[in-house]
Amino acid sequence: MPGSIWVHGEIGADGGLARISTEVATVGRALAEAGGRELVGVVVSAEPAAAAAELARFVPRVMAMTEPTTADHAAGTIVGQRLAALAQREQPDYIVTGAGAEGRDLAGVLSALLGWGVLANATSASWSDDGPLVVMSVFGGKLNTTSGFTGSRGIVTVRPNVATAEPAATPGSVEPVSVEGELSLPMVKVVDRIEEATAAAPIEEAKVIVAGGRGIGGPDGFTMVQELAGLLHGAVGATRAAVDSGWIGYSQQIGQTGKIVKPQLYLALGVSGAIQHKVGMQTAETIVAINRDPDAPIADFADVVVVGDLFEVVPALIAELRARQV
Ligand SMILES: Cc1cc2nc3c(=O)[nH]c(=O)nc-3n(C[C@H](O)[C@H](O)[C@H](O)COP(=O)(O)OP(=O)(O)OC[C@H]3O[C@@H](n4cnc5c(N)ncnc54)[C@H](O)[C@@H]3O)c2cc1C
Repeated sequence: MPGSIWVHGEIGADGGLARISTEVATVGRALAEAGGRELVGVVVSAEPAAAAAELARFVPRVMAMTEPTTADHAAGTIVGQRLAALAQREQPDYIVTGAGAEGRDLAGVLSALLGWGVLANATSASWSDDGPLVVMSVFGGKLNTTSGFTGSRGIVTVRPNVATAEPAATPGSVEPVSVEGELSLPMVKVVDRIEEATAAAPIEEAKVIVAGGRGIGGPDGFTMVQELAGLLHGAVGATRAAVDSGWIGYSQQIGQTGKIVKPQLYLALGVSGAIQHKVGMQTAETIVAINRDPDAPIADFADVVVVGDLFEVVPALIAELRARQV
């Protein structure tokens, strides 16, 4: 009898469903359709109702479990234990989750408790006769590997911004579930939550990103980047060169060792377009580069290249945007 694929619904900062889980649900739905499996969403949280209802827009059936300890503890370990108990009872074939901080914790705990393998950081997934085939980007995007599970069960983590979330044609239903047993693994207590003040918006969610590279020249240059981002209602991103120079925080780094982003507009200022940066932003809908070097690698994949000194082009752009706002 065909089994099921579970998709884990993570809680976002606003208490609803995290955006990554809408992408995970879309990937899971494609796998379930191709593999002829039942698709089930699972949300475990102190207050799962809102996220579960949102997840039901993507999957036919959602199990919602109330777990009060997640209110003031890091969720991954706790959700992992509850999901493992539920999986032992219900026997799904595969569990798909996001490759963010929570998903990574969750995948580790599930793997240890269930003895299942993990295919981590999927950039895409398809179905073969033997189950999911997972594509992963390795060596800084120079190589893609395709891997499958040796057994008939497994856990897949999906990188943020590699899939476009699409709700199902018909919304699903939500049902409450519970499992017995104590939480036995050590928990991480959350003592404080601090909102980052540096960016106008979290870069993973931003529709517009203005990214600064080494060409920005220093921390003062990022004031200009911030100003342009503000005028475009976007967020500030950066290359590793800018982050390593201490001009901006690591949370804004885009690329292989930073974040993967997928905005509608990516404006790259003084960014050469090294492969390690490209893997983090190449799926942006429109890439506009401002660079004084017409042969910079970014010219090969940008939609528009403005060849010029950014210290002339960007102030002119800011002045024009300001003039239009008046
Ligand atoms: C294992 C590993 C992981 C890495 N991970 C990442 C990662 O996650 N993210 C990342 O970004 N990098 C990463 N890197 C580093 C990466 O290889 C590049 O070194 C880095 O992306 C270069 O940053 P940049 O484009 O800002 O600087 P540069 O390559 O120095 O480019 C600066 C650009 O600015 C232009 N410029 C200079 N002045 C002006 C001006 N006045 N007006 C207009 N244009 C100007 C130049 O023409 C040039 O093209 C990684 C490297 C390694 C080895």
